[in-house]
Amino acid sequence: AAEEGFDPEEVEGAIEEAGHGPLPVLAVVGRPNVGKSTLVNRIIGRREAVVEDRPGVTRDRVTYEAEWAGRRFKVVDTGGWEQDVLGIDASVAAQAEFAIEAADAVVFVVDAVVGATDTDEAVVKLLRRAGKPVVLAANKVDGPSGEADAAMLWSLGLGEPFPVSALHGRGTGDLLDEVLKALPDAPEQTFGTALGGPRRIALIGRPNVGKSSLLNKVAGEERVVVNELAGTTRDPVDELIELGGKTWKFVDTAGIRKKVHLQEGADYYASLRTAAAVEKAEVAVILIDTTDSISVQDQRIITMAVESGRAIVIAYNKWDELDEERRYYLEREIETEMQQVSWAPRVNVSAKTGRHMEKLVPAIETALEGWETRVPTGRLNAFLGELVAAHPHPIRGGKQPRILFGTQAGTKPPRFVLFTSGFLEHGYRRFVERRLREEFGFEGTPIHISVRVRE
Ligand code: GDP
Ligand code: GDP
Repeated sequence: AAEEGFDPEEVEGAIEEAGHGPLPVLAVVGRPNVGKSTLVNRIIGRREAVVEDRPGVTRDRVTYEAEWAGRRFKVVDTGGWEQDVLGIDASVAAQAEFAIEAADAVVFVVDAVVGATDTDEAVVKLLRRAGKPVVLAANKVDGPSGEADAAMLWSLGLGEPFPVSALHGRGTGDLLDEVLKALPDAPEQTFGTALGGPRRIALIGRPNVGKSSLLNKVAGEERVVVNELAGTTRDPVDELIELGGKTWKFVDTAGIRKKVHLQEGADYYASLRTAAAVEKAEVAVILIDTTDSISVQDQRIITMAVESGRAIVIAYNKWDELDEERRYYLEREIETEMQQVSWAPRVNVSAKTGRHMEKLVPAIETALEGWETRVPTGRLNAFLGELVAAHPHPIRGGKQPRILFGTQAGTKPPRFVLFTSGFLEHGYRRFVERRLREEFGFEGTPIHISVRVRE
């Protein structure tokens, strides 16, 4: 009876939409100044130009959501990173490598007016090695006269060059049609459990929080000889480590170990690395340096992991350094600054002394368990029924919106759809989320709740 007023097809559609897993990822790569950022802006439909003249500009975000022809995907913008101390070739290769690593498909942007350069050729080699689908964008073809320039780029051996003008929009529709063909419907389900492989962990946090120290500590003597492990593909940037009797894959550890110190664009480079690692991981262990105040940069990293829908563990590191007074203030800070992940398991560790290292694995397992929890529809609706009866939505303008029924449309992370008779206020949604957590756990996982209002 609760379903009354809803078109069954609409219900099914809503559940399917809410249940889809993480979005496929498109990386846009190429040399500086070929028009990557302009193209990304075009793809995500952003009006304002964020094209900057200054090299090494720090940007908050590198991943955006986009939609074309009814399909949604993520775009990784590598355009904010410029020439650095390593020289141009190395820098382009490094930024492209990170982005390609995390992507399901790649748009390689070449300046058709300039033609293919040695640096472009170097990126082509990289793309070949990565083996990801590539769509070649011949940019700055602002008019028909540039088409010939675009055709020259067949020489790169990447197939048909798509002539586009990122600046004016010319040809970008055809390019995006091709991109959709290259992107998988849902990103490849490489999640460990499904394949019986090791679970994937990303160690993230701002520079100097102790990521590489922690990695070295946990790796210790237990480092697994990769070749002996059957059925695992060797990825040079990932590391298999045995902990608590199980093998775990720490993703993107090369980025942690390498410690590329860049003068310009280092922050940007760090956030690109973080985004790539998070995309590849199932669970993010976010390190916080307890000897320092919790910063905006910490918050940004947390937001990135939460928005990506990963399981999350917070590791408060450098615990060995804390005195009574700092500890007092730290707890106050955690209360105010860490609210957005108040549900995440917490471990107080020292990568230096090894303090509480043994608590890391149980915390990770708790988070993954919450991330994969599925509540049967019957149980969910019994719970929702009681919740609505005990705590109805406040009456607004003589009307009282009600939750009629709900279902969990997906896991990793848990995604719910609530069907209602009216708009639910933000505060009430928060209340429902809080009660869901109290009832069903969901420790260490973000949860998504979407609401469908009966017309
Ligand atoms: P990125 O470094 O690869 O991200 O390149 P940008 O997006 O910052 O663009 C570099 C310069 O090329 C800027 O001055 C853009 O306005 C210009 N540009 C980008 N796309 C086009 C295009 O399609 N046609 C023309 N004429 N200029 C473009
Ligand atoms: P990353 O940049 O996040 O990889 O950080 P590192 O692992 O390089 O650590 C940065 C600095 O913090 C180094 O000097 C480490 O020795 C120090 N450090 C890391 N973990 C701890 C810890 O638990 N206690 C103390 N006292 N120092 C630490």
